[in-house]
Amino acid sequence: MRRLYADGWVVTCDDEGTEHPTGWVLVEDGFVAAVGDGDEPEADERVELGGAVVTPGLVNTHHHLYQTLTRARAQQADLFTWLRELYPVWAGIDAEAEHAAARTGLAELALSGCTTVFDHHYVFPRGRDGLIEAEVQAARELGVRIVASRGSMDLGASDGGLPPDELVEEIDDVLADTERLARELHDPASGALVQIAVAPCSPFSVTRRLMEESAMLARRLGLQLHTHLVEAAGEEAYCLELYGCTPVEFLTDLGWLGPDVWCAHCVHLSSDDVADFGASNTGVAHCPTSNLRLGAGIAPVRELMDEGARIGLGLDGSASNERSDLIFEVKQALLVARGRGGPAAMTAREALRLGTRGGADVLGRTDIGSLEPGKCADIAVWRTDGLEFGGADDLVAALVFTAPHRVDRLVVGGENVVRGGALVRADEAEIARSHRVQARRFAA
Ligand SMILES: [Zn+2]
Repeated sequence: MRRLYADGWVVTCDDEGTEHPTGWVLVEDGFVAAVGDGDEPEADERVELGGAVVTPGLVNTHHHLYQTLTRARAQQADLFTWLRELYPVWAGIDAEAEHAAARTGLAELALSGCTTVFDHHYVFPRGRDGLIEAEVQAARELGVRIVASRGSMDLGASDGGLPPDELVEEIDDVLADTERLARELHDPASGALVQIAVAPCSPFSVTRRLMEESAMLARRLGLQLHTHLVEAAGEEAYCLELYGCTPVEFLTDLGWLGPDVWCAHCVHLSSDDVADFGASNTGVAHCPTSNLRLGAGIAPVRELMDEGARIGLGLDGSASNERSDLIFEVKQALLVARGRGGPAAMTAREALRLGTRGGADVLGRTDIGSLEPGKCADIAVWRTDGLEFGGADDLVAALVFTAPHRVDRLVVGGENVVRGGALVRADEAEIARSHRVQARRFAA
């Protein structure tokens, strides 16, 4: 079955940044077979796109899907205050709530053009099994790709950490469960719908030994490594007091900088840190909306790009970025880069690339993030005949400048996930209803 998506402005996000303003994409067996402009190849089915912008599916490199259950809390708080208020609430999570939360977050993401989601789950209350399985199930139901992490916290308040003791685990339990999930769920193949990453939560909630053992486990199993890093200004003082070094020195010392590692936020990096990230090819999940919401600051993304670091976009959890909208985050990345570095700090196309190819690079995926022969047929189609595009000749720049948008059509591995701006495989209203039932259990 060869399906041709025709008459679109195709943004390939290939190495050269090729665009086809009257372009087409040919899809066969879930992968891109050819991309071009003008004369159309033979196909079994032709899908007319009517001048829409066609981009690779967006890639979200940092989220906490369970947090859709607890939005709009701790409204004026900084990171540490916000965490201390929410940890006890999150202690109520179980598989049923996790499934409802993940369906909601993943549906929002799909409708904003996102085809691959990394979820950083690190809250594992004792005796609640099946949390990662529940979010993987939700991704399968909706039809999107997921990289789920078996996160962890083992440094409780009584040992000088931030989380309450009831939410920390034993190191051996964490490592054994991570290995089990990798064995049961991780698919290393091109076109994988489900992968597992190793993701201890942060230097202020995890011991040195768990950081080290997590890295050893990930490298033994061939999994990617992830953690939070220097999101808030207070983190450096915390690290100096606890470990006698800066957070980036701490990671370097642990062997935690490298091409198989990416860190969320990286707001408070020195120029030496930025150079270290570039030289070690360490990835960054840039989460501008969450950083603004918590008043944490703005990451030095232009500087990181100039040093050659891998950078993608993350929405972060729904309790600190209440909206899971990735095309909006593309615009937000552009705006904060310009707020920090002036109007030349980032182009619209650079921002779009962070949300697509950049995200794929950060997750260590060479099979997604661009529309090229052999890549997964993960495609977002954006209508350009709405009110907000009127008067714009450069429709690709307009897609970014006028965001957010509801994606018109979303294809994952050649399968429709969104069509006509609606979920194909699930009922949006039903997802919202069952989510509300679960969310009431966490009401303040
Ligand atoms: Zn986060």
